[in-house]
Amino acid sequence: MPGIFCSSRVTQGLHGGPETTWERLRQLLPDSRIVCLKQIHSDVIARAEDISEGDFPEADGVISCDPSVVLCVRTADCVPVLMWADDAPVIAAVHAGWRGLALKIVPKAVQCMVASGARRVHVSMGPAIGPCCYAVGREVIEALRTEPDRHLDGRLFVDLHRVLRNQVIETGIAPENVHQVKACTCCSGSSYYSYRRDGEFTGRNVSAIGGKSCSLPGLPVP
Ligand SMILES: [Zn+2]
Repeated sequence: MPGIFCSSRVTQGLHGGPETTWERLRQLLPDSRIVCLKQIHSDVIARAEDISEGDFPEADGVISCDPSVVLCVRTADCVPVLMWADDAPVIAAVHAGWRGLALKIVPKAVQCMVASGARRVHVSMGPAIGPCCYAVGREVIEALRTEPDRHLDGRLFVDLHRVLRNQVIETGIAPENVHQVKACTCCSGSSYYSYRRDGEFTGRNVSAIGGKSCSLPGLPVP
């Protein structure tokens, strides 16, 4: 299943809302239908089949039973998650920050895929802010029902990939089907955009799965 976590080389100049990303992907992949979301840090998962061309529903996950559709999420420190199955033509893309993780949006996306016939589901977590840089308040630790991965100078650091991996394995997915690109968006030079490093007007990292010929520069899903 083709999927990609794009570096800033392909996403330069894209900001905030879904429109510019949708236009850019339409230019890069002219033969594919592109689905982008108006992301709101929720646990809402849309179905590509219910979305009209050019509409951007308020949701943070999207699932499709037609893998020729390109599903896209935008992040800038949150975890982009791309999902597929060995045994059914079902794909999904999810935007998961700490709020989405607290709401268990990825286990909910797994449930949607299982309800659509998938059994051997793969989950791939893309570049996100790492435990090297992600200092958080106690309220985030509590919302995630976890423990800090690191303490430094009275500050608490958490690893969103670890929290997500544990949530996914609890749903019954085999550990070897949980994949990870370990790059930290905040301290990996200029390869990725980072809200924490650059502020709210930073660009967006684009992750996409599906399509007839999804060949963008960046990191293919492992
Ligand atoms: Zn870092």
